Amino acid sequence: MTRKEFVRLCGVLGVGLPLQSVFSSCKDDSISTNPGKVLIIGAGAAGLSTAYLLNQRGIEFQILEASNAHGGRMKRTLDFANFPIPLGAEWLHVERGIFDEIVNDSSVDIGIKTTPYDLENDYGLYDGEELSIEDLGFESDQKFVNATWFDFFEQYIVPSVKDRIAYNKVIETIDYSGEQISVSAAGEQFTADKVIVTVPVKILQNESINFIPELPSNKIDAIRDVTVWDGCKAFIEFSEKFYPAIVEFRIQPRSAGQKLYYDASYGQNTNQNIVGLFAVGTGAQPYIQLSDEELIEYILAELDELSDGKASETYVKHIFQNWNAEPFANGAYVYDSENWRRVRTLGESVGDKLYFAGDAYTTGDDWGSVHTAARSAKRAVSEMLG
Ligand SMILES: Cc1cc2nc3c(=O)[nH]c(=O)nc-3n(C[C@H](O)[C@H](O)[C@H](O)COP(=O)(O)OP(=O)(O)OC[C@H]3O[C@@H](n4cnc5c(N)ncnc54)[C@H](O)[C@@H]3O)c2cc1C
Repeated sequence: MTRKEFVRLCGVLGVGLPLQSVFSSCKDDSISTNPGKVLIIGAGAAGLSTAYLLNQRGIEFQILEASNAHGGRMKRTLDFANFPIPLGAEWLHVERGIFDEIVNDSSVDIGIKTTPYDLENDYGLYDGEELSIEDLGFESDQKFVNATWFDFFEQYIVPSVKDRIAYNKVIETIDYSGEQISVSAAGEQFTADKVIVTVPVKILQNESINFIPELPSNKIDAIRDVTVWDGCKAFIEFSEKFYPAIVEFRIQPRSAGQKLYYDASYGQNTNQNIVGLFAVGTGAQPYIQLSDEELIEYILAELDELSDGKASETYVKHIFQNWNAEPFANGAYVYDSENWRRVRTLGESVGDKLYFAGDAYTTGDDWGSVHTAARSAKRAVSEMLG
């Protein structure tokens, strides 16, 4: 079993992993070298964490973000329910100590609440014909309570870096052939001594950014060959609660994807009955091809099958998030069974100019989550500072 498979077994429905000692437990201001001006491409978990660490060390930087908002795949909405709805990252896959690691300052108290699932919660497994329900029976990932991963970043990371985010800057070219690096977005030019690229790997796979000179051939191969899962989420409100905490749909082979319907109101201070749908890989494919009208019919038919028609009877409203259709994501994340060496190649820096941070640019021990994106930021900053 690879480290990644182990991590995934402990994943969505598994035990929390112990923390790696990648982050120091307190703020570290020492800089061995001053890197000059740093440009960070992308303001998701990795870009924000990178900026935050540079800010702690007094290093000059700017973030260039393609969209009109920060957060990337941690996007959430406050408009659907009376608690925040996580349209991307939802669960905490590791222990709560990751919050302290990311904040990297032991004087800060983290007020974000999380809750594990109760071991006696109903856990359903649907094989396409029969639904079997039993107790969850094992420790699981944690849910944020009336908050999300986005809210954690918004509260603890974003305030110290927000004024250095330039929005609506879709980076098209990174020219690192000269002494200074030149980065361009729709006719606008930015220069820097170092660049940290944090865009989703699918953006590089689609060749949306042109590197001059070309990236090293092993990096190009890794970008081309890595598998990025399709992905979507939906949230559906019902006037009654008729469903268990989690129903997993069996996908064969397991490595092809995941699909869960789950109680999204679990642990929240709310009286609203909201069911979530999380679907990646082949699990997502039926949904991302449907119109909104077809989509809700499809979802209600699936839930009616499991509930003797209760879903259609009690349906109130829904919201859908298609990650494949997001112009600056184009998919969900690198699939769980990816070759770890390929992921490690994605994370390698190029010369002493270009650095990569993000959920796909790790050391190959884990990938595809907010905590891995944040940890990769720490690694990229350490490499850059020597
Ligand atoms: C459906 C779904 C469910 C998930 N569930 C969980 C979960 O429960 N728990 C968990 O930990 N993780 C989960 N994840 C994974 C998690 O969301 C990501 O791993 C993490 O948010 C990635 O952060 P990042 O900074 O690497 O990338 P991103 O968040 O994608 O940030 C990259 C940024 O780069 C910007 N960008 C893109 N192209 C350009 C360009 N050309 N120029 C400038 N900027 C650009 C983007 O707009 C974006 O803001 C989930 C993801 C999905 C899609």
